[in-house]
Amino acid sequence: MIDISQLIYVLTIVAFVIGLIRMGNPATARSGILWAGIAMAFSIGITFFVPGLSNLILILPAVLIGAIIGFVAARRVAIVNMPQMVAIYNGMGAGAASTIAAIELIKLGNSSFNITIALAGAIIGNVSIAGSVIAFLKLQGWIRQKPVTFFLQQAVNLIIVAIGVFFGILFLLHGNFLIPYTSALIPFFVLTIGYGFLMALPIGGADMPVLISLYNAMTGIAVGLEGFAISNYAMVVAGILVGAAGTILTLAMANAMNRSVGAILAGGFGKTQSEDRTVSGNLKPISSEDVAVMLAYSSTVAIVPGFGMASAQAQFKVRDLSDMLISRGIKVFFAIHPVAGRMPGHMNVLLAEAGVPYDLLQDRDEANRAFQDVDVSLVIGANDVVNPAARIQGTTLYGMPILDVDKSKNVIVLKRGAGKGFAGIENDLFYMDKTKMLYGDAQESLSKIIQELKKL
Ligand code: NAP
Repeated sequence: MIDISQLIYVLTIVAFVIGLIRMGNPATARSGILWAGIAMAFSIGITFFVPGLSNLILILPAVLIGAIIGFVAARRVAIVNMPQMVAIYNGMGAGAASTIAAIELIKLGNSSFNITIALAGAIIGNVSIAGSVIAFLKLQGWIRQKPVTFFLQQAVNLIIVAIGVFFGILFLLHGNFLIPYTSALIPFFVLTIGYGFLMALPIGGADMPVLISLYNAMTGIAVGLEGFAISNYAMVVAGILVGAAGTILTLAMANAMNRSVGAILAGGFGKTQSEDRTVSGNLKPISSEDVAVMLAYSSTVAIVPGFGMASAQAQFKVRDLSDMLISRGIKVFFAIHPVAGRMPGHMNVLLAEAGVPYDLLQDRDEANRAFQDVDVSLVIGANDVVNPAARIQGTTLYGMPILDVDKSKNVIVLKRGAGKGFAGIENDLFYMDKTKMLYGDAQESLSKIIQELKKL
């Protein structure tokens, strides 16, 4: 039976890889998730046939309860609450890795190599589970979203994790003999979990997605290490895949936001700044009637969604509008910035939910080549990702690659009022001569434009 189980593990590993490749393209992403899900179900299923498995009476109800909670929660969660769901599920993965580590560590007769691997996995898993819990609480609004800072914070954090690691080394060196294992393992777990809580506290709620992505990568690494410790190859490969994909995503997000991962790790990330910069020009309001006329007489329209579209849940109206424009023979495309919204792929997920055809979506580079030929760019609740201040040295956004909406012939911005973007700075685009502001909730404004368009 052991051979068959190993064979099935290998097949599930292949299925994980296929799933991951398919997730790389939005057109095949759904089937990628299905591949990975089925592979995971097989991995769990085959584990029941591995010789020596005990405690079935505890494991089976736990699997059942977990599956029911996961299924119901995933079906019910609103798309805007997805980041916190990812955070808490990721935390559970890290918790599982830490639990395996704890069990392996209190077992007698493990080699030093296994203990080292289990300890390393436990440190990463503990930091990840504790940080994920803080991320969940902040995003859910159950604790203060603002960064929590105190005097000598980084030094205190460093000392706590260093003492935790010291107890881990003590356990590795003396194990159960010179020092009873509980005396070293308990402070090891308490301090490394404590460090995880403290590390996440200075990060602002809106910056959490980058941190969650980092925790996701850490969870993968922790699972991979524990897979080594218990010689489970499916865990090793699945952990490495998650660790690698999570690391790439973290770097891509940090890069797209022009921040460094080092600053995130130091806990100095996420403090939004305000700056004293005066922008010349004035804000020019426009009516929905005039917007409809401008759109109706355009040849090419770019739709640029941002966080405001998500918060207004305006994606369905956006789809209706783009359908209407296309049926009038107008060329329409959606310009998607990698960090528009508050989680990776936020705009893609919402637009897919509304049934916007994938081939209408253009990434930043593609869109930037097209803006000069665009008659009207319709900016729907986007701010930072279209802010030309990113090109001005010394601004908070300096260096972040943006969508060059200011290159299009006309710009219409849908937003409620004078609210700033996530970076908290003025947007030069809104003050340009070619830009007009349509104030109001994005969903309501779009409804009005659609009504006016129907009259033309
Ligand atoms: P943004 O800079 O956060 O701006 C959103 C704009 O939407 C605001 O100016 C707001 O203005 C408007 N708005 C809010 N609710 C609205 C509603 N109901 N109807 C109409 N407008 C509404 O958004 P963004 O351009 O998408 O930029 C995303 C930012 O988040 C970037 O700075 C990015 O670095 C950061 N970030 C992204 C991620 C990610 O993974 N995507 C993760 C972390 C951080 P009013 O209040 O005036 O309406």
